[in-house]
Amino acid sequence: MAEFDLNDESVVVIIGSGAGGGTVANELAQKGIKSVILEAGPRFDIGDIENDEWTMFSKISWLDKRYSAGGWHGSVNHPTLPTWIVKGFGGSTVHWAGVSLRFKEYEFKTRSNYGAVDGANVEDWPVDLAEMTPWYEKAELKMGVTGKTTGMPHLPWNNGFRVLAEGCRRTGRSDYRSGPMAINSVERDDRPSCQQIGFCMQGCAIGAKWSTMYTELPRAEDTGNCEIRTDAMVLKIEHDDSGKASGVLYADKDGNQHLQKARVVCVAGNSIESPRLLLNSASSMFPDGLANSSGQVGKNYMNHTTGGVYAALPEKVHMFRGTSVAGIVGDEVRNDPARGFNGGYYLEFLSLGLPFMAAFMEPGNTGWGRSIAGALENYDKMSGVWVLGEDLAQEKNAITLHDSEVDQYGLPVPIVAKTPHNNDYEMTAHAYETTAQIYESVGATDVYELPAYPATHNMGTNRMHADADKGVVNGYGQAHDIDNLFVSDGSQFTSSGACNPTLTIVALAIRQAEYIAQEMNAQNI
Ligand SMILES: Cc1cc2nc3c(=O)[nH]c(=O)nc-3n(C[C@H](O)[C@H](O)[C@H](O)COP(=O)(O)OP(=O)(O)OC[C@H]3O[C@@H](n4cnc5c(N)ncnc54)[C@H](O)[C@@H]3O)c2cc1C
Ligand code: SF4
Repeated sequence: MAEFDLNDESVVVIIGSGAGGGTVANELAQKGIKSVILEAGPRFDIGDIENDEWTMFSKISWLDKRYSAGGWHGSVNHPTLPTWIVKGFGGSTVHWAGVSLRFKEYEFKTRSNYGAVDGANVEDWPVDLAEMTPWYEKAELKMGVTGKTTGMPHLPWNNGFRVLAEGCRRTGRSDYRSGPMAINSVERDDRPSCQQIGFCMQGCAIGAKWSTMYTELPRAEDTGNCEIRTDAMVLKIEHDDSGKASGVLYADKDGNQHLQKARVVCVAGNSIESPRLLLNSASSMFPDGLANSSGQVGKNYMNHTTGGVYAALPEKVHMFRGTSVAGIVGDEVRNDPARGFNGGYYLEFLSLGLPFMAAFMEPGNTGWGRSIAGALENYDKMSGVWVLGEDLAQEKNAITLHDSEVDQYGLPVPIVAKTPHNNDYEMTAHAYETTAQIYESVGATDVYELPAYPATHNMGTNRMHADADKGVVNGYGQAHDIDNLFVSDGSQFTSSGACNPTLTIVALAIRQAEYIAQEMNAQNI
């Protein structure tokens, strides 16, 4: 593995090793560009993975101090754990389930399609589907997504999805499939095919599911162009007198601080930490935080309109067997305002193990008593979905810094404020009713509605916009205010779409790396 000097001003410094950071690093490394990844959490490897929900949650989650605020479920059910993301080598791609859907054209152009929505801050992306299509293809090939691009067949159906699919058929639906998933259905890219072991969200113990932990990161290291420092929490991005990013200050495992110089800085800490870092990097030249002349850093936090619906069926289903997300229903993904809301939603079959089901059914201190015990007795007869719908950007949904409390690094604690828009309530009600009909058509004896768990899809807090007054970065994730500062994660999303975000994060990261290389060659940055 390469080792670079702290005073080496020629390196690209990448903050975070997840979907965005890991991909940018490997893409740059393959082009011969030198980088240092600073990752706040520890180094994991595949041997650390266990098929145990709570053990893995404790081992890999980001559990540093954070607060929920606003009128969402997080404030009530998860006041100190607004989000569910990973701190460590590979970032949240260790946890993720592998669903790899593309945005629809209308989802990139929400302002043009929805118009100005009361109470929302809806805008168009500076890119569209035609521009993104070749990058989606590159991302699908890289990640090994089942379907047309790779030629890999979709994964087998498990029992839980069979029940859901039959309900879809009986209620006149046609768009239900077991993909696209970034999980090998056949051996590919030096990784084995899925063995249907289950517990994908606890990490894939054989590496069938794409994760930067055992693909992008070791491959970047193998080139000799990338050094990865773990247990390295970035505290501040520094700039020179001209306002260009010049390096980053980070704390190592023992709390010692170091300044790593940089030619280019890429921020990929996920959508809470990335804006938090820009805000914490305020200086006399940038008193409101770096890259924040628009005032949009931290604003427009989106995390999908979501919630669970689980049905008890007359016979045993054993939904926990097989991939966690074994199927996707896409019939409701369209913009049809006649339904009473803008945008659409997916229904994604999701198996939860018994411990998570118990915890998520009625989170907080309410999960006791006869009703929940009765529901859990039906566990082996359950099939269920996670609703995933477009979440409209709102300026008041934001990441801000606590004015007095600090974390273990001495940094102000982030507050994650979210209040759903009326659009979310209308969409969720529609989705719950639709799902109940689907399951009732196959004889469900009970249907349980679960509130959303801590946010796993975090987007939008450093958004892209063609207009520097309305967004933080341009269409390449490059800060409007600082040419050599990039945002490389989901915080650059202008809208959330209905689909899971990671394929789009990876496609944008591949495209961004190409742009960074060009700009470095041209000596523009
Ligand atoms: C349980 C679960 C299931 C999911 N399932 C899916 C799915 O099926 N499909 C899908 O598309 N998405 C899914 N996701 C979401 C997906 O994992 C994320 O969208 C994606 O990983 C985000 O990529 P990122 O690069 O923005 O951040 P991450 O992958 O979270 O990486 C960020 C990294 O930055 C590090 N970091 C943060 N701040 C600092 C700092 N100051 N200094 C140094 N390092 C820092 C963190 O430790 C972390 O390792 C799921 C997530 C979870 C938790
Ligand atoms: S079901 Fe497949 S992808 Fe999921 S953890 Fe098991 S082997 Fe990996």
